[in-house]
Amino acid sequence: MTIRILTTTPPCASVPEVYQDELLHSPPARGDISAAEWESLSAKRAAAHRQCAGCPIMVDCLYRAVVEVDVSGFVACTTESDRQFIREQLGIEIRQSSTTPYGTARVGGGPVSHESVMTVRQAYPKDTCHQLAERLGCSTSTIKRHLRKAREQKREESSPDTLLPTLPTVDAVLDCFDELASSQVA
Ligand code: SF4
Repeated sequence: MTIRILTTTPPCASVPEVYQDELLHSPPARGDISAAEWESLSAKRAAAHRQCAGCPIMVDCLYRAVVEVDVSGFVACTTESDRQFIREQLGIEIRQSSTTPYGTARVGGGPVSHESVMTVRQAYPKDTCHQLAERLGCSTSTIKRHLRKAREQKREESSPDTLLPTLPTVDAVLDCFDELASSQVA
């Protein structure tokens, strides 16, 4: 693919706190928040979605966030789980350290260890990521990152010599994006 050099500032650069808002990029389940909070979240998400949809580098941004870097945040009209859904449709995965600088840093209280997350997951297997995060006093993204790391470790143990798949085309990524309910939001 061709990476375009942007000569104007993308909308997200002006309000990074919106795109890093955990409620936006890792939304809780509908039942975990009140009707008013859900309404506010929907409005916030629609606004960010409109900004991304009008962004001149939206396609490049989406491709890189799906295929190249498992970046944290609301990116190119997608949540983290949207991008994971696209990767699953494409049969790809991003191999990168779960402690990548692209991930969202935890605010306060020091880091949560991988072992702590896995212990709580084992103790409360039916909890949502949101509930586990509340138990540990960390972000939902942190929980998801550690659970993803555990899945990757399991996969690597079961097939250590698996070759990385060929990179998907931009069109293939866009086709999967079009299947997302969130691609219709505006
Ligand atoms: S498409 Fe990407 S670069 Fe453009 S506003 Fe959205 S997150 Fe920012």
